[in-house]
Amino acid sequence: MTRFTKITASIGPSCENIDTLTRMIKAGVSVCRLNFSHDTGDVQGAKIDMIRSVAKNVGVPVAIMIDIQGPKHRIGDFASDKHYPLKVGQKFTLDSDETPGDETRVQLPDTDVMHSLNVGDRILLNDGKIELRVDAVFDDAVETTVMHGDEIWSRRGFNLPDTDVDTDILTDKDRKDLEYAITKNPDFIAVSFVQRAEDISIVRDFITERTSHPIKIIAKIERPNAVKRIIDIANAADGIMIARGDLAVELPFEQVPAVSRYILRECRKLNRPAIVATQMLSSMVHSDFPTRAEISDVANAAYLRADSTMTSEETTIGDDPVNVIEKMDKILTYSDNDSIEHPYDWCNIENTPENDWSRSVSSMAFLNKASAIVVFARDTDAAVQISCRRPDMPIIAVCSDEVIANQLCLSRGVFPIYDRYLFGQRDAFGAAALFGVRTGKLVIVDEDKISLRTLD
Ligand code: PEP
Repeated sequence: MTRFTKITASIGPSCENIDTLTRMIKAGVSVCRLNFSHDTGDVQGAKIDMIRSVAKNVGVPVAIMIDIQGPKHRIGDFASDKHYPLKVGQKFTLDSDETPGDETRVQLPDTDVMHSLNVGDRILLNDGKIELRVDAVFDDAVETTVMHGDEIWSRRGFNLPDTDVDTDILTDKDRKDLEYAITKNPDFIAVSFVQRAEDISIVRDFITERTSHPIKIIAKIERPNAVKRIIDIANAADGIMIARGDLAVELPFEQVPAVSRYILRECRKLNRPAIVATQMLSSMVHSDFPTRAEISDVANAAYLRADSTMTSEETTIGDDPVNVIEKMDKILTYSDNDSIEHPYDWCNIENTPENDWSRSVSSMAFLNKASAIVVFARDTDAAVQISCRRPDMPIIAVCSDEVIANQLCLSRGVFPIYDRYLFGQRDAFGAAALFGVRTGKLVIVDEDKISLRTLD
């Protein structure tokens, strides 16, 4: 059985060695995500080199995605390592005073954030366990009331679900990380805490001023204002990550499944690959087996026709990252092949007139019961568009360039082959044979020409 949903694996200490990476890639990882919130510079560079060399040895295209930290907001320091209890109803002040905090106040180092806040906005600390409500905003302080209490300590992150923060999408750290990252020619850069389409343009300009390497940009959707602007953001970016970790803090948690469905549907219409991320198989950090709820979560991503699922801690710090990928592969493969649940998207009324061409390709493949669609890919556009119509057969993309093959690793149902000979010869039968398709019909897409050929 063919698996259509791709697997993006977060790479961390548990799998940063040749043997584990080799087994993970053989088990089905097609995108490796490196989180620059943790190690940066040469340490990450060495990992990128290792992934590239493992992929080469295994002989499959694998994409590298660098995830930059973005403007993650943190409060300042408290007087000691002590945890300070904040009680419901008490007042708490965030100010620009660098002296260590106590039960009544702490520094808010980022003045842009302070000046973006409005009376009534919520400030969520500690993954949403503490909720503060803004009572008053002054030049150098914000007064709040504690709505939900818990313990607080130094340098905790916070989220602002109600606030359009007037802050630069790239922090000084991100600029430094990006300067380095682009020297390693990654396939994707994932941008954290995107709020608007202009954020993507800023990152794109930063990259294109420094390299001609065609890096694709993935917008991480983790803020309610980004959900509201998803169409503009998706149009500006090359793909989307539904970053459910922060999203579930900033949105009422019960809305996250509905928002995920909505984003997946819009991305499909706009021809943008979308990744469902975070806590997919979390229990497997220590367990050999996923929970029933996790099995359903992964399966649902396949039923919702996501391009890719993503692993997090279960592969970065988990006991057995290879087992995680094997389990994810098994769940996705079964669900992808459960045809009863699969409506054909190419005939879905949601599709727009701009998608007519890719709909024709998919409908031709469906009506002729084709075994595969073979696309000669000079860039990623045609294969991505066809993938977004979600045809039920593999899309074999014969790529003229290795970077195109790597970048197509993220798209649902696309199986990239980088082979100059096949591309030069326009050898669709050779590509099908390499993929294991030896009989049946092929729909062949070569630039604007669509043809149907029969394999014997
Ligand atoms: C998330 O919040 O779901 C996410 C993927 O982002 P990060 O792991 O960078 O916090």
